Amino acid sequence: EQVLSRKNTEELKDRFETMANNIPNLAWISDAEGSISWYNDRWHEYTGTNKEQSDGWAWQSFHDPKRLPAVVERWQKAIATEEPFEMVFPLKGADGTFRQFLTRAAPIHDEEGKVIQWLGTNTDITKQKEMERMKDDFMAMASHELKTPLTTIKAYTQIVEMNLREKNDTDSLSLMKRMNSQVNKLTTLIEDLLDVTKMQKGKLIYNEDFFDFNALVREVIDYMQKTSGSHKIKSKIGGAISIFGDNNKISQVIDNLISNAIKYSPGTKEIVVSTHTNEEGVILSVQDFGIGILAKEQKKIFNQFYRVSDERQITFPGMGIGLYICAEIINRQGGKIWVDSKIGKGSTFHVWLPIDHRNVIE
Ligand code: ADP
Repeated sequence: EQVLSRKNTEELKDRFETMANNIPNLAWISDAEGSISWYNDRWHEYTGTNKEQSDGWAWQSFHDPKRLPAVVERWQKAIATEEPFEMVFPLKGADGTFRQFLTRAAPIHDEEGKVIQWLGTNTDITKQKEMERMKDDFMAMASHELKTPLTTIKAYTQIVEMNLREKNDTDSLSLMKRMNSQVNKLTTLIEDLLDVTKMQKGKLIYNEDFFDFNALVREVIDYMQKTSGSHKIKSKIGGAISIFGDNNKISQVIDNLISNAIKYSPGTKEIVVSTHTNEEGVILSVQDFGIGILAKEQKKIFNQFYRVSDERQITFPGMGIGLYICAEIINRQGGKIWVDSKIGKGSTFHVWLPIDHRNVIE
């Protein structure tokens, strides 16, 4: 029986090693304290080491010294809490260059539930990161290049509009107006794209001062009401309330939420915008009675380029960046944004902003 059991264990070990040596990832096993006792062949190939050179805590010598303390801290925390570990960090290859790896480790328990080992993998994501960077750079360049001719087109349409008005050419003037409104749409789209690229690089500039939040909400509603023939924007806005922040960026958020409310509630006639104030801050709520959002989508819609893609949504144009920009601005202003929604009944987007976010962050 003992011989059989030993043969079984050896067979299992062989099978495990064959599998671990044939995956493209680097893989390893550590003891419960985090000291590594075994690596797969990929690890040895990548680091150019043999078995003796890698045991125990030698893995630290393949890390970027600047990043190592953070890695050790996270690894020790995982060991102490027995929670799975996940982190992206660079590892030095045999040729001396660093590549980025996504590293995951999971605890292995014995029959009593005690952690006896950790099983870890490192996946090379250098190419993926490089592609992401290229995509971001391309987006930044494309939106920047598109903006220049568009600004010129806009200037010319204004001149042509003036000339047509002088000549009293009402037919052409009405066409020109339509062209102007499309040029404005295009400008907004490109400016949104530019904002996203600046946000990614942390380069979006915030010009902050005290301003009357409720007056700003009223101003945006008035403007939006003029451009929307389909919906009546009802409002319940309180008296003057001064908050600290970038009023242009916050008005961009209000504009975006009202535009979405109108866009995603075809066939209905009303949007309700309200504000509430308490000692800590202000809450803005934008309610529509439109198509609504499934519970499982409600968090994802604030992600970059995320659009709900079921058949009810296909007819709505958009790039899925409006709410991402809103969330980014509101977070930077120390606030919160969230949504309550029921399919077929409508959605209410809420924004909470502190009176002065400098007090909240510090
Ligand atoms: P876009 O509207 O350009 O697709 P957004 O970032 O503004 O991008 O919105 C992301 C997604 O969230 C939309 O594609 C839509 O599915 C959903 N959404 C946003 N606002 C509403 C709303 N008021 N009602 C229903 N769905 C909405």
